[in-house]
Amino acid sequence: MKTIVVIGGGSGGISTANHLSYKLRDKIKANEIRVMLMDPSKYHYYQPGFLEIPFGLMKKEETYKEIDKVLAQGVTLLQEKALKIDLANRSVQTDKGKYTYDYLVIATGARYDYSAIPGFVEGVDHFYTLEGSNTLRKKLNDFKGGTVVVGISSMPYKCTPAPLEAAFLLHDMFKSRNMLDKVKIIYTYPMPMVFPDKRISDFALGLFKEKGIESVLDFKLKEVDSKSRDLISISGEKIHYDLALIAPPHRGSELIAASGFGDQSDWVPVDKFTLNVTGYKNAFAIGDATNLQVSKAGSVADAEAVVVSNRIAEEIDGYNPETLYDGSGGALMITGIGKASMISSNYNLSPVFMPERYSFYWLKLIYNKVYWNMTAKAVLSEVA
Ligand SMILES: Cc1cc2nc3c(=O)[nH]c(=O)nc-3n(C[C@H](O)[C@H](O)[C@H](O)COP(=O)(O)OP(=O)(O)OC[C@H]3O[C@@H](n4cnc5c(N)ncnc54)[C@H](O)[C@@H]3O)c2cc1C
Repeated sequence: MKTIVVIGGGSGGISTANHLSYKLRDKIKANEIRVMLMDPSKYHYYQPGFLEIPFGLMKKEETYKEIDKVLAQGVTLLQEKALKIDLANRSVQTDKGKYTYDYLVIATGARYDYSAIPGFVEGVDHFYTLEGSNTLRKKLNDFKGGTVVVGISSMPYKCTPAPLEAAFLLHDMFKSRNMLDKVKIIYTYPMPMVFPDKRISDFALGLFKEKGIESVLDFKLKEVDSKSRDLISISGEKIHYDLALIAPPHRGSELIAASGFGDQSDWVPVDKFTLNVTGYKNAFAIGDATNLQVSKAGSVADAEAVVVSNRIAEEIDGYNPETLYDGSGGALMITGIGKASMISSNYNLSPVFMPERYSFYWLKLIYNKVYWNMTAKAVLSEVA
């Protein structure tokens, strides 16, 4: 019997395991293959909803389900934390046991390294966890006026447009409460633009002008003074805030650090087309965990899950694996209440940007239902 181990039951891991369970269903039934998914978390989260909770656009209960409710039949769930991967000897040590594998898929996502910014935890808020989003919902609900700063700690971070979306939503929320004269919104970014792509940055700056949102560019956050409520950059620039929504610093999983094959930020080095961990044909990494210069997005994790599950199934079926990742990813970017635009890109295409449409906004909001019923369950496995 051959064993496929998937570490991580988030967007990429669930999608990989579910695609494999479909593609290899006959061999799984015949006990020739087993697919095991490891994750200590009881829940699988729909993280895009974390942006929507603070603005009352999604209920917190819509953003999570128990992992075993999302996992297809034929996948064995191990509620265990992987502690160390031995790539040379094809084994994974967890907090409960040791497992050997024929194929490994690492989908451990990103972790938040709050300690990298002194004062972060005490001083600022964010919508990058369910808990953070719930706290923000209450704080925004009670907010009576002042300066709200939206920004990021450092690159890379999940969902490149999310902070812009938050700034646009804040504006429209305060407008609907007739509070715009009591509020100043400031957007900070560590680059000379408000988004890594110039065309999208220019578009967003146009909306900032329309909505009266200020921007402070090249602002590289060093620390937060939680007493005086100042954000302080590495060049000593200070921005005072009454409420700050700051994406936390991101790193790869501690598992990668403990296993000794990550880069300096614990991201996993992979081949950009095959998604093989550098130097290992039977090990793959996908989603936020990799060092690829693509967006840390669920759309990327899902596209990569299709590639990796295809490559594993092709090899198990006796063929040379042919499916390659082309860098595909995309996002719907909310530009205000009732409006959104769409961004998509791949390795050969600089981001294609589709202007604001009402339909994109509703697609973004109903995507939650599509996610639970189709994407996570990999129901398109037949055609993908
Ligand atoms: C606010 C916000 C808005 C977003 N909006 C969008 C959007 O609009 N569109 C979009 O495409 N993407 C969006 N994203 C990004 C998207 O959610 C992530 O890119 C996606 O979840 C990445 O999938 P992943 O499988 O790589 O990691 P995750 O989904 O984070 O899953 C990682 C899993 O690994 C597990 N794990 C970690 N370490 C271990 C270990 N040692 N052992 C076992 N298991 C482990 C964790 O418990 C977790 O379940 C957003 C994210 C946020 C936070």
